[in-house]
Amino acid sequence: MLATILSPVFCLPQYTPLQFPALENDTIAVTNITTVPASFPFLIEGCSAHTGILVSVLTKALVALTPALNDVGLGLDSRHGFKALFKDGATSTYVRGILRSIASAQPLKGLQPDPSVPSAPRFACVTPSTISQYKFLEIDPWEICSLPDAGQSVYPVGSSYIFLCPSFWRGEVAPQKNTCPSVKRNQFLGRGEAVGMYLTYLVIHEMVHFYLGKASLGLYSNPPEVYPINDCVALDILDSVHNPQNYQFYVAMVEQGCTKVPDPDQPPFLPGHSNNGSLPAILLTQAAHTQPSLAANVEKVPTMTTLPRLESLHGDLDDPLGLQ
Ligand SMILES: [Zn+2]
Repeated sequence: MLATILSPVFCLPQYTPLQFPALENDTIAVTNITTVPASFPFLIEGCSAHTGILVSVLTKALVALTPALNDVGLGLDSRHGFKALFKDGATSTYVRGILRSIASAQPLKGLQPDPSVPSAPRFACVTPSTISQYKFLEIDPWEICSLPDAGQSVYPVGSSYIFLCPSFWRGEVAPQKNTCPSVKRNQFLGRGEAVGMYLTYLVIHEMVHFYLGKASLGLYSNPPEVYPINDCVALDILDSVHNPQNYQFYVAMVEQGCTKVPDPDQPPFLPGHSNNGSLPAILLTQAAHTQPSLAANVEKVPTMTTLPRLESLHGDLDDPLGLQ
């Protein structure tokens, strides 16, 4: 069972990581921090001199979530891409549940290495000895990070740890000024670099994997996880709420104040793709109520189609810890 629980999610490179050897001015002040502040909600392990930067990245990520949490309740009235990325107002509660869990560092049960103890996301920096330090792992993060097309981070599903590759530190922490992708002929230009290529948003992507658990799209799901922004717009409703990159772009677009967005109901996107008459709106809404134990719940869930996934979540609504 462990092999399936710990099947890795590879976050393949979204963009060529920026070569960024020098630290940003605003991070220099914290680079000497090698211990995490006592009140900090996330555990950080093995990052030595990078610890301070990671604290800064995660702090900025939490700050970025506030405007998104304010915007997400607007649903289709959002001006910052909610419709392009999540398609239907009925997903609003579900998306908000995931974002709130990240913002509050909601601990989840059922995660390795100690399933009985609820854990918030933990971050570990990958070294050659990571595999021997984290004995529950069945994959070697160092090996994955060393692949030629490796991404900057790895989240093994079922783990309380998000592993950061050495290449993670080549990324830029956050944009220097508001930056938005252009839109032409109802499509974004490029892959979303303007809003996506920052560590602040990448850690949100990884924490969406953490809270979606097995419901998350990944390298081996059908369809697989997608990264380019137009591919995120093209996903149908259910895949959109299970693709971490959609959340990453949404949070970034809200924080950067981006208002130019394509309409997913118009060409070149499939007409009707987002206007699904059989949308299980009540399931989407109520699924979010199971969210605190979602990762544990989804272990029981069939993964052949997305709809049974949500129906199964619907069956677990007795969870007294349900978020609202
Ligand atoms: Zn991913």
